[in-house]
Amino acid sequence: MPAFRSTTAHMLRESKEYASQTLMGGLSGFESPIGLDRRDRLQALKSGDIGFVHSWDINTSVDGPGTRMTVFMSGCPLRCQYCQNPDTWKMRDGQPVYLDAMVKKVERYKDLFKATGGGITFSGGESMMQPAFVSRVFRAAKEMGVHTCLDTSGFLGRNYTDDQIDDIDLCLLDVKSGNEETYKEVTGGTLAPTIEFGKRLAAQNKKIWVRFVLVPGLTDSEENVEQVAQICEQFGEAVEHIDVLGFHQLGRPKWHEMRIPYPLEDAKGPSAALKKRVTEQFESHGFVVY
Ligand code: SF4
Repeated sequence: MPAFRSTTAHMLRESKEYASQTLMGGLSGFESPIGLDRRDRLQALKSGDIGFVHSWDINTSVDGPGTRMTVFMSGCPLRCQYCQNPDTWKMRDGQPVYLDAMVKKVERYKDLFKATGGGITFSGGESMMQPAFVSRVFRAAKEMGVHTCLDTSGFLGRNYTDDQIDDIDLCLLDVKSGNEETYKEVTGGTLAPTIEFGKRLAAQNKKIWVRFVLVPGLTDSEENVEQVAQICEQFGEAVEHIDVLGFHQLGRPKWHEMRIPYPLEDAKGPSAALKKRVTEQFESHGFVVY
């Protein structure tokens, strides 16, 4: 999902400051495999020898602590109404990238990551659609002493073994709704896998930053927020904080460009009063809220 980054991040991305913080972008610096037929590609995808990548960048304070290399993987099984990056939905629209090339890129920046307390983040799309590639990069990162972060909805958590989870230092976990009905309406998917994955992370003493996108009229009811809080409570001490991300319309042009009917065409972001109410609701459960 995680394609919905924080409002600050999106604003930052638009700004000159962000441009100076971004060292690279798109898919520069990677050679795509050539000459692989469909069968070879599927085999390489399964083994994690290649991954389908939408883009990557180097950023600060956006997708986890410190300066990070964020890799946006292609492919997502959900269809969130507020998705900022519908261009990541189809895996085939990404570029195949060799595992070795990705690991070398992490190695290149490892001193920067260590100096800033940063590391590598996999985002998307839904990077859990490519568990072999992502977990092999994470394994290599851990061997280099680099911090790892997975930005996910947890919807495909069953794709991850406990050993693979062990190489995740931090998970940015999107809890998109607190009940099945709203979750289905927002994403087209089911909520239970997110809860299950969060519990597995907690059982393995991983850190979780919960992300909740606040959309007036869609996710903002007191009952829904209460249910999200109750889900977070099930993760116990693993939850370091909850990010309440106010909906905004910066993603709308992509829906238009791709000619996909955009369900939130006229939706507005939350008022300050609504954001305050939701923040206080989470705080009343003892959570730190950003
Ligand atoms: S549709 Fe997929 S990529 Fe878009 S916000 Fe939802 S989980 Fe993220």
